[in-house]
Amino acid sequence: MTTHPPLPLRRVLMTSHTRPAPAAGPLDRLLHGDCPPDFLDALHRALARHGFQVATDPGEREEYLDGRLRTLHRALPPAHLLLRDTDRLAAVVAWTAVADPRLCMSVITHTVLCLGSVVRLGADDPSVRSAVEALTSADARGSYLVTEAGRANSHLATRTEAVFDPRDRCFVLSTPDSAAAKFGAVPAGRGRRLAVVLARTIAGERDHGVFPFLADLAGTEGTLPGVDFSPPLELSSLPLTFRLVSFHGVRVPYAAWLRDGATVDAGGTLHDPLGSPEARLRRSLCVGQELWGALPSAAAATARQATVLALRHARARLTQGHLAPGAPLFAYRSQQRALLGALADAFALTCAAARARELLGTASEAGEGNGSRSPGTAFAPWPAVSLPLSAYKAYTVRAAEHVVTECRRRSGWPGLLDVNRLPGYQGFHQAFEPAGGDSRLILYDIGRSLADADPSAPRPARTTDPADPSWWPSVLGDHEDTLARQLRRARDHRARRQHDDFAVWNPLLDAAGELGETYAARLAAEDVHRALEHLAPGTDPPLREALEALGVLSGVRAALRRAGSLLTARTLRPRDLAPLPGLVDSLCDRVLPQLPALEARFGFPDDIAGAP
Ligand SMILES: Cc1cc2nc3c(=O)[nH]c(=O)nc-3n(C[C@H](O)[C@H](O)[C@H](O)COP(=O)(O)OP(=O)(O)OC[C@H]3O[C@@H](n4cnc5c(N)ncnc54)[C@H](O)[C@@H]3O)c2cc1C
Repeated sequence: MTTHPPLPLRRVLMTSHTRPAPAAGPLDRLLHGDCPPDFLDALHRALARHGFQVATDPGEREEYLDGRLRTLHRALPPAHLLLRDTDRLAAVVAWTAVADPRLCMSVITHTVLCLGSVVRLGADDPSVRSAVEALTSADARGSYLVTEAGRANSHLATRTEAVFDPRDRCFVLSTPDSAAAKFGAVPAGRGRRLAVVLARTIAGERDHGVFPFLADLAGTEGTLPGVDFSPPLELSSLPLTFRLVSFHGVRVPYAAWLRDGATVDAGGTLHDPLGSPEARLRRSLCVGQELWGALPSAAAATARQATVLALRHARARLTQGHLAPGAPLFAYRSQQRALLGALADAFALTCAAARARELLGTASEAGEGNGSRSPGTAFAPWPAVSLPLSAYKAYTVRAAEHVVTECRRRSGWPGLLDVNRLPGYQGFHQAFEPAGGDSRLILYDIGRSLADADPSAPRPARTTDPADPSWWPSVLGDHEDTLARQLRRARDHRARRQHDDFAVWNPLLDAAGELGETYAARLAAEDVHRALEHLAPGTDPPLREALEALGVLSGVRAALRRAGSLLTARTLRPRDLAPLPGLVDSLCDRVLPQLPALEARFGFPDDIAGAP
């Protein structure tokens, strides 16, 4: 046995092509949306200008991320245009996630949430223009502070206050106690730091609900008076500088109130055209829509890239086991099932991401996110901002974590190396379970609202052939209906004996979460079926055949993973499941001949995703 690895392993994961094909055919559109090739080229060049750095020292890391963010912002259209263009925004989020998840999180916080709030809700006032310009060029760094650290579900009960002072028409920002300190990423180092701060807005002694304010936190001389930073809090799954931030009488000019058409008159009375604090909260959080429309693209992109890396590694790595000394790792069926299964899930995620972009585009055109839509929520305001998009957020991030974890486990020690990115991708998805709208709370609320809705109309009879791409979405549709029926029955049964919502729902939350998750999985499974139909006309037949096999493989493996729940609810019977393992193998065989073509389309350029 050799004691040295036979190949330069650090680079084994990082071989091959330099650029994906320009957006043209239906598969390219599925992968990258309608981004023109020159946009993708500019994005690629901006990301390739800086090599990846692990940068464990926080000071070094922030300087590196500052540089990358600045280069990126200079290459991108101005925020007000970028944020209106769903496909380009999603491409930026996806490509930065692949290049460096910390950069992606910085883009999300700085560009999507902070600048996005200013662009969507702020008035174009000369006195805040310099702040907006500094954010647009990324010369200043922007944070987004909504979470209050001391209590759960803080997004439903903001306690930070912005009190209108009629003497100088400023708002005075205050943190009532340490439990209401904001939690968020605020980069270390010197330089201007701004934040969009969500605060309960009081004028004329009346509470008008939660509005965002653009506040200066720090300048080149350090933290500004009235702003308190905790020491940096490190978070190893997504290494950035997090802090608790408190405000003590910080004066925010009227123009920095992101008032979205609301006004305070000369007598100090606040007029809000939305009319209710609930509608105002939903509107103040409307940038969540952009995040959830774009984040699934990052989930899909990192899942694809992780799988491509793990596949290349498995093909190049020689084994010395006694069954077949010298055989490549990928010759083993166990490795093929795992990695082709991961590729299938990455493809399914790509279909879901395309649909999330489409939904965001439609919502933006229809002016949704204006505070008017309101399914009931008990745990978090997010599903009230957009139910399907919040479902896509929760579902795709979890599914991508599953894919990346599998790739990492199947890649030995190179899978654990930071430079190979898999730990970063995994940490990113773990962090986005609570971040960007807590996924579990989103799914609880979706499950509850599905139980409260009228039962859906009977679905058409489903095919019994699991090799048919319509099989898995229709199984999930039936399963969702059964779970909803069971939950409704349990809720009604408990409601006859219990008279408060907590007593009724408390034992039912896991079931509500499962229903919410099944709803999201069903949407994603339908997206695969729909995408395969769209891909059919313009895609090379052998590639199309492999994509169809991937779509079916993703569904069949998901059915095996969910067997317990499907059997318990009698959605499937044991004899429905029995042929599935054999089908997995035949689907793998259908994918194998097209693997090089799939890897070339699914992977990202080496100069943004390769080892330095
Ligand atoms: C990497 C990262 C970056 C972040 N960046 C920012 C940022 O820039 N700005 C910002 O404002 N915030 C940020 N956050 C905070 C994020 O928004 C919160 O973590 C999230 O809203 C969840 O809140 P929490 O952490 O207080 O968890 P909690 O609300 O305390 O929840 C803890 C657990 O209990 C469950 N739970 C909570 N309430 C209930 C309930 N009523 N019933 C049943 N179960 C419940 C939750 O699902 C969760 O599993 C970030 C978080 C992370 C991890």
